[in-house]
Amino acid sequence: MPVNLYYTQRVRGFQQENVKYLKNSVEIQLKRTKHQCPYCGSTRVTVEPVRRQIRGEPLGSCRNVVLEFTIHRLYCHSCHHRVMEHIPFLSHPKARLTKALERTILELRPHMSIQSLANFYNLRWHTIKELEKKQLKKKYSRIQTAHVKAIGIDESHVGKGMQNQQYLTIVRDLQSGAVIHVGDGKGISALAGALKKLKKSKLKVVTMDMANAYFSWISENFPKANIVFDHFHVIKLMNDKLDLVRCRITAKMDESQRKQLKGLRFIFLRNNEDLPEDARMILKNMRGDFQDLGDAYMFKEALRSIYRQAKDSYHARIAFHRWCKMAEETGIPELKTMARTIRDKLDGIVTYWTFRHISNAKMEGFNNKIRWLIKQAYGFRDREYFKLKIYQLPEISSEKLL
Ligand SMILES: [Zn+2]
Repeated sequence: MPVNLYYTQRVRGFQQENVKYLKNSVEIQLKRTKHQCPYCGSTRVTVEPVRRQIRGEPLGSCRNVVLEFTIHRLYCHSCHHRVMEHIPFLSHPKARLTKALERTILELRPHMSIQSLANFYNLRWHTIKELEKKQLKKKYSRIQTAHVKAIGIDESHVGKGMQNQQYLTIVRDLQSGAVIHVGDGKGISALAGALKKLKKSKLKVVTMDMANAYFSWISENFPKANIVFDHFHVIKLMNDKLDLVRCRITAKMDESQRKQLKGLRFIFLRNNEDLPEDARMILKNMRGDFQDLGDAYMFKEALRSIYRQAKDSYHARIAFHRWCKMAEETGIPELKTMARTIRDKLDGIVTYWTFRHISNAKMEGFNNKIRWLIKQAYGFRDREYFKLKIYQLPEISSEKLL
C-alpha cells in the first residue's frame, strides 16, 4: 500500500518506488527522474548517484521509518557548475533526518530530555544535541539591544578545567532578564564581542561586582553609563569577609571549640530574621566566646539595615561612612578591608539608590539556573552548546528545573 509521502513526511518531488514493512521498521524507497541545474535551470545535466538513507516521521506505532533514495551530484553542460542536487525535504545536504522530523524533535525538546528523545526515536544523543545546537545558534546569533538601558555583568564559576574554562562572564539586560553576551573566562578579555552587540544600546546603568575589572572598560566605551555596585554584590562580599573571619578563628582553636563552631557556619550565611530562636541564642553567647566573629556578624546585619532604611543616596552615604568608621575602630582586619572597599566604591554603591527601580533581584534565580545546567553536565561535553543554553535560560521556567 502506498504511503502519502507529502501528508506523512512532507516529502515532495519524489515518487515512491517501493515500501517494505519490516519487523521494527518501514523502509520507503524513493525515486526522482527529472534533474535540473539549480543555477541556470538547464536539464542538460550529467548525474552521479550516491545512495542515502534518511530517518522520517514515525508512521503509526512504527518509529523507525527510513526513506531510501539516491542523491545526485550534478554536472551542468550549459553553465558548467558542479553541485549536489537540492533535496527539498532536507534542511541541509548532509542531514540524516527529514526537516519534518527535525521540527517535531525541536518542538518536543522543551518537554523532554535529550536522552529520552534519543531513546524514543532511536537516534543518537549527539544527533539530538546537534539539532538543538543549530537551532539555538540561529536564534541567538543576533540579539536586539537597541532598547537596552541597564545591564549586569557577572562572573560565574562553571567548573574545573583550563584557566579560561573555569569561569564564564555573562552580560544580561537587567530589565528583560535576557542574556546579551556569554564570554569565556573573566576580566576584560571575556567581554570581547559584547561591545559590538551593545553598540546601539542606550546604556544608562551597569551593575557589577566590586572586585572585578570591568570598571575601566565601561567608562571607556560607555562614558555616559552609571556604574552601580548593587545591594546583592555588597552583601555577597560581606558574606565572604565573614567566612574569612570564621576561617581565621577556627585555625587557632582547640578540638572542642572547633566542633562548636563547625555547626555554626550556616548561621553566618543566613540573615538574622531567618534564624530560629536557639540559633539566635548561640550567636548571643558567641559574642563572648568568639568576639571577632560575633562583631563581624553584627556588622553584616548593620550593612543590611542600611539597605532597608536609607531613603535616598544622601542618607545612604552618611550611613555607610558611619559604618566604615565603626568597622575600622574594631581593629578586625577583615572588617577594615571591607570598609576600605566601601569607601573606594562608595559612589557606585550609593548610585544604587538612584536606580533602585532597576532591580538585579533576578540575578540570584539566574545563578540557580546555571547551577542546574552544570549539574546536567552540559558544560564539559560541548562548551559552545553550554554557552548557547545559557542564552536560553531566562526562557526556561523555574519549575522546569526540578
Ligand atoms: Zn547550469
